[in-house]
Amino acid sequence: MPAARRIRVLAVVLALSMAGNVSVAQTRVTPTRPAAAQMTWHTIRLRNVDFVDLREVGERLGLKIEWSAATRKLSLSRSDDRVVVFEADNRDCYLNGIRVFLSERVTAHRDTLWVSRLDVLKTIAPLLRPAEQSLLWPARPRLIVLDAGHGGIDPGKSNTTHKITEKDMTLDVVLRLQKLLEERGYRVVLTRKDDTRFANNPLIDLQRRADFANKALGDLFLSVHFNAVDPKDAHRVTGSETYVLTPQAMLSTSDEKKDDLTDVAFPGNRNDVGNVLLGYHLHRQLITDLQASDRGFKRARFAVLRFVESPAALIEAAYLSNDAEAARVAQPEFRQRIAEAIARGVDNYSAALDALRPAESP
Ligand SMILES: [Zn+2]
Repeated sequence: MPAARRIRVLAVVLALSMAGNVSVAQTRVTPTRPAAAQMTWHTIRLRNVDFVDLREVGERLGLKIEWSAATRKLSLSRSDDRVVVFEADNRDCYLNGIRVFLSERVTAHRDTLWVSRLDVLKTIAPLLRPAEQSLLWPARPRLIVLDAGHGGIDPGKSNTTHKITEKDMTLDVVLRLQKLLEERGYRVVLTRKDDTRFANNPLIDLQRRADFANKALGDLFLSVHFNAVDPKDAHRVTGSETYVLTPQAMLSTSDEKKDDLTDVAFPGNRNDVGNVLLGYHLHRQLITDLQASDRGFKRARFAVLRFVESPAALIEAAYLSNDAEAARVAQPEFRQRIAEAIARGVDNYSAALDALRPAESP
């Protein structure tokens, strides 16, 4: 079958399958779309990385494609208005207006845009076609482990003008969040309830926080932090960031090239698919509810995320290095808003998992 006709047939089948028509199982072409992870993608090698044409991603995931050569932007959208916009040379994309970082820069080539194959598998497909990753989704969380960043001899970041330290602010947010989550029916345990830490060695301390979460058999791990930048940038950098563990073989957001951790598969990587959904929902709610500057949903191989066996995220809620933002953090009302945004993010993540459940039944 010629390629153009094959694509048209596939498009019809996709349209039927989206309409819930089960008769597609008798057609000669693929009965239902295979999960993105099982698809063979046509790749080209750029900068030593496999890239996929975003038009192919759109066609094969059954998405509407709009490309503007003038702006070098390409958007993929679903009928429910889920839309993701890519722009040439950027390492991020915008999903429903929320900034989501990719492992590799979006690249213009042959009058279209290309993204890395791993970005398709680990970020774009799970967010745009979650139902097709159904076997990989975690269960709705019941027991949530909350981790107030730092503590004891480690104050974390601080703001001297407003006399606040990260370890106090994270504990306060986590205690507020515990109450909100328990009111919603979740069970909650805390890695620390006071100004302590597990170990003075920072790496051992972080490892023990993960061990604690694993021993508690938590379904979800949330580590709360506040951020800071160098004084020279402090006046201009504000907002929220949300991190999940970088999938194996992908670059963390702050990396430009591979390092000795890039190819390591950590226990936390078993939850790559759950993590992307969790991170997106938490980040979207933080940006929306706090009206925060969108620093992005990012990936990092933070020690505390590597060994947690449940879906896990680390939230950098605001910048203590910025005096105006630190002044807000110093207010209990703002810390309550942070806790409420995270609680809503957890609810939305749970609801998204529930919505995927029918797809799991035979
Ligand atoms: Zn921190």
